[in-house]
Amino acid sequence: MDRGFAEAVVSVPDVERLAAWLDGRSRMAVITGAGVSTGSGIPDYRDGDGNWKRSPPVQYRDFVESAAVRRRYWARSFAGWPMFAAAQPSAAHVALARLERAGLMGELVTQNVDRLHQRAGSRNVIDLHGRLDVVRCLACNDRTPRDTFQERLREANPDWNSSTARIAPDGDADLADVDFDRFVIPACTICGGVLKPDVVFYGESVPRESNVAALTTVESSDGVLVAGSSLMVWSSFRLVRAAAQRGIQVVAVNRGRTRADDLFAFKLDGECGAVLDAALERLAE
Ligand SMILES: [Zn+2]
Repeated sequence: MDRGFAEAVVSVPDVERLAAWLDGRSRMAVITGAGVSTGSGIPDYRDGDGNWKRSPPVQYRDFVESAAVRRRYWARSFAGWPMFAAAQPSAAHVALARLERAGLMGELVTQNVDRLHQRAGSRNVIDLHGRLDVVRCLACNDRTPRDTFQERLREANPDWNSSTARIAPDGDADLADVDFDRFVIPACTICGGVLKPDVVFYGESVPRESNVAALTTVESSDGVLVAGSSLMVWSSFRLVRAAAQRGIQVVAVNRGRTRADDLFAFKLDGECGAVLDAALERLAE
C-alpha cells in the first residue's frame, strides 16, 4: 500500500528478506499484539521499550474483589465503547487476512480483544485473551453481547455524560474529575451475578483450551511470524519460546524491543501494515 513509508522505516533488503521467508510457507502461525491495532486508532499500552505509557490496566483480582474498581472500570468502558466498537481494520489486519487467503498460514493467535482480524476477513483466529464485544457473568457464565450491555448501562445511568473521554487499548477510557460512586452497574439478568467483559484481565489466567489451541498451532507450524507485539505478556512469550525450542523459525515485525529478541531468526523494526504490504507486493512479483 504505502511502500515508500515501509522503505523509509525498514530497508528494501529487509523487506525482500521477509518476502523470501514467507515464500512457500503453508502452515505459518502468526502471533499479533497491540501494534496491529494502533493503525485502527486503538492505542498501545506500552512504549518501544516495553514500558507502560499510561497507568497500568485493571487487575483481575481488584475487579472481582472491589465494587469501586468495577464502577470505575464500567464507567470508563461505557465511555470508550462507542469509539472502540467503531474502529476499522488497519492495513496490518488487511495484510494478514491476505496472507491467509494466499494459503501461507495455518492459524493466527491474537492478544487483541478487538475482533478486527475477523472483521478484516481472517477466518482462523484464536482470541487468546478473549473478546471485548461479549460480557460474561462470573457466577452463571451466561454471555451477552457488549452492545446489549451498553444499552443497559445507558438506561441505568441516564445522566452520565462521558462523551469527552479518550479511548484506551482495552476499550475503556480516561475520565478525570468524575464521581465514579454514582455509576450504576446492572447485574446478570439471569442470576444477579457480577458481569465482566469476556477478556483475560491482567493477573488472570488464559483459559486452558485457548492456551492449548495456541500452542498446538505454533508447534505444528512451519514458521512463526510475530506482528506488532512486544511479547511482554507471558501467554504469548511462551508460544515463541516453544517454537524456538522445537527449532521452528520465528521472525518478527515490530516497532521497538520485544521480550524475545534473542529468539528471532530476524526482526524488522517497523510499522506492521506498511512492512507486510511491501513484503506481499514483493511476493506477488
Ligand atoms: Zn449470571
